[in-house]
Amino acid sequence: MTKATLLILGATGDLTKRLLLPGIGSLIAGGEQGDLDLLDGLTLVGSARSEMDEDDWRGLVRSAFEDVDASGDLAEAIVGNAVYVQADPSRPDDWPALLEAVEGEELVIYFALPPAVISKVADVLKDVDLPEQTVLAVEKPFGSDAESAARLNEVLRAVVPEERIHRVDHFLGHRATLGMLALRFDNRLFDPIWNADDVQRVEIVYDEQLGLEGRAGYYDTAGALRDMLQSHLLQVLAVVATEAPATVDPVDLRDAIAAALRATRVWEHGPVFPNTDAPSRRARYTAGDVGDRHLPAYTDEEGVDPDRNTETLAEIALEVRTARWAGVPFVLRSGKAIGAPRDEIVLTVRPVRHRPDGQTGEGEPERIVLGFKPPRLRLQLTAAGGSMPFGLEPEDVTGALPKSAVTEYGEVIRGVLGNDPTLSVRGDVAEQCWRIVQPILDAWAKDEVPLEEYAAGSAGPDSWQP
Ligand code: NDP
Repeated sequence: MTKATLLILGATGDLTKRLLLPGIGSLIAGGEQGDLDLLDGLTLVGSARSEMDEDDWRGLVRSAFEDVDASGDLAEAIVGNAVYVQADPSRPDDWPALLEAVEGEELVIYFALPPAVISKVADVLKDVDLPEQTVLAVEKPFGSDAESAARLNEVLRAVVPEERIHRVDHFLGHRATLGMLALRFDNRLFDPIWNADDVQRVEIVYDEQLGLEGRAGYYDTAGALRDMLQSHLLQVLAVVATEAPATVDPVDLRDAIAAALRATRVWEHGPVFPNTDAPSRRARYTAGDVGDRHLPAYTDEEGVDPDRNTETLAEIALEVRTARWAGVPFVLRSGKAIGAPRDEIVLTVRPVRHRPDGQTGEGEPERIVLGFKPPRLRLQLTAAGGSMPFGLEPEDVTGALPKSAVTEYGEVIRGVLGNDPTLSVRGDVAEQCWRIVQPILDAWAKDEVPLEEYAAGSAGPDSWQP
């Protein structure tokens, strides 16, 4: 039986409640025997500066487990052993009390903290005497530019070696991302056309209906580009664009991902978006209705400083400069308060070279579409259709992809407790991701790209619509 402690810093936060604790529960409810072994004997220590009763912390854990149907002896044991320590992890004097709660030889410290606090705490940890087998799990965004990411890497590596640092990006453990690997490398059908000769455009879109939801403290200094594109969607791009790794171990898969991202640059070959030569566009939502909810304008949300010009919708065009992909735009997009949100990876295939003369009908391009939520595959094909013998119509063939009972954060917890960093971001890659988006951040800071507006509940600014 492993005797491990998972110390969550930021235990009173949204991530812990909504994703981390249910993630642990999902491993109990739907994991393999190996997952149950990892959790057996686990001491779950929650910590934050706020006062919280031990019973309240246990209640929080229990209710997160119940939400994902995690029950039984293991769930009860974890709840019963859960400990809460009120502490400020950026104060060296608070660490003895935190370490006193640690049981067993293995310690995972999960930084579920605001980004600005993460580097402060990492600095403090350099002088704390941690157990030999300590693993650090650090949430995104990792730094705020390439330089701060490099500095954070340096500090973390002064605490534990790189193999025990998990830079969390739960999109790597997303079913759609893992489904992409399987689709490409475990089927003969798709990989032969997975290149610039056959694919004319790749889009990775993750829109959502949610607005700010009270998270101005974090989001207003981040925005859609830093929050979603620079981290999650670049990881997905890497999996779409990578060469086949020899294995899916932490070295081969992460080398392949790193190579794809090292080859990625801002698009420089002319207009990708209508009405602009720029390889990016940005916008912010105004008041409107999303489904049956009314959202105020982003700038009227509590805690928002309108002068920060924070975008709630971002689109950027990139190029992966490899023999496989050069010349194909990769468009990344994510937005909040979108009425009919899309969340999918779309490969638009080039038109056939010649259709037999005499055929009539729609010449829509073929598309391979992999959806995030729920995981799904859609093939948009050109099929025989209409009343005439040689008529053509676009036709969708759709299917659900297998779901997993283990959530994306269950996957993260599995990785950190087993210290398997395969699905976490390597240090150099975290820096590369900032290098890729920096020219866009610079252009936006100089106002070279206008900040447009769209009504909450719409699909984005009118001028963006095809
Ligand atoms: P919250 O603001 O909800 O929670 C932050 C936690 O950190 C609280 O427990 C808070 O407790 C503690 N905290 C805040 N300020 C300090 C401080 N100065 N010193 C020490 N502790 C502090 O944030 P989230 O839970 O939403 O996010 C946490 C991390 O997870 C962030 O890096 C975020 O980017 C990342 N993330 C969040 C996601 C989400 O959906 N929420 C999704 C993906 C990543 P207290 O004030 O009591 O100390």
